[in-house]
Amino acid sequence: MMMMSQTLKRICIHWTAGGVKANELDRSHYHFTVEQDGDIMAGNLPPESNIPQNGVSLSGQPEGSYMAHCGGGNSFTIGISLCGMTGKNPNNTWQNPLLRSQCETAWQLIAQLCAIYGIPVTAETVYTHYEFGLCNPSTPSAGKIDISVLPFMPSLLPNQVGGYIRGRISAYLVEIKKAGAVKPKTTPAVSKPTATAPKAPVPVANKPASAPVPR
Ligand SMILES: [Zn+2]
Repeated sequence: MMMMSQTLKRICIHWTAGGVKANELDRSHYHFTVEQDGDIMAGNLPPESNIPQNGVSLSGQPEGSYMAHCGGGNSFTIGISLCGMTGKNPNNTWQNPLLRSQCETAWQLIAQLCAIYGIPVTAETVYTHYEFGLCNPSTPSAGKIDISVLPFMPSLLPNQVGGYIRGRISAYLVEIKKAGAVKPKTTPAVSKPTATAPKAPVPVANKPASAPVPR
């Protein structure tokens, strides 16, 4: 029997279309939410809940019990969401816009997750829900608009936002690698709710030398 991969392969980035803090609905759909003030909240289930395996997820939940954040693309995919973007005013402003500082915290968190799980930062592996919907028009994710605009960078076109985000994540990943090796861990460093967001790059467990963190 072919062995199923037991690792997470992709990260999908969202906004909640809600308020500045995570609510119960957010916690039931995303593995991590980044609130407007930069606090990171873990979801109700860990990323491993999205690894289907023999009828149960790797984290022990029944296979049907996972974080549904990206219709048609949930398996092996971590869901991260930025709190905000409630509604939309005619002049293209938002009641609760995403903030640059909030987003930087999210890009850094995603870089940490890329390092932990060995996920390369490419358009096929780290993408916005908007990009996933464009590439997978037959899924329920078609037509999603998160994240097609960053309010603090209004000149970016929708099809430029994902690339900009990946550039920021890649920059953080370089910093994480520079920080050097720490003792290997069997569990991710970021797997539980944290009261405060890390404000500076935090070293994360390196993969064994035989499995270097991909660029
Ligand atoms: Zn979404």
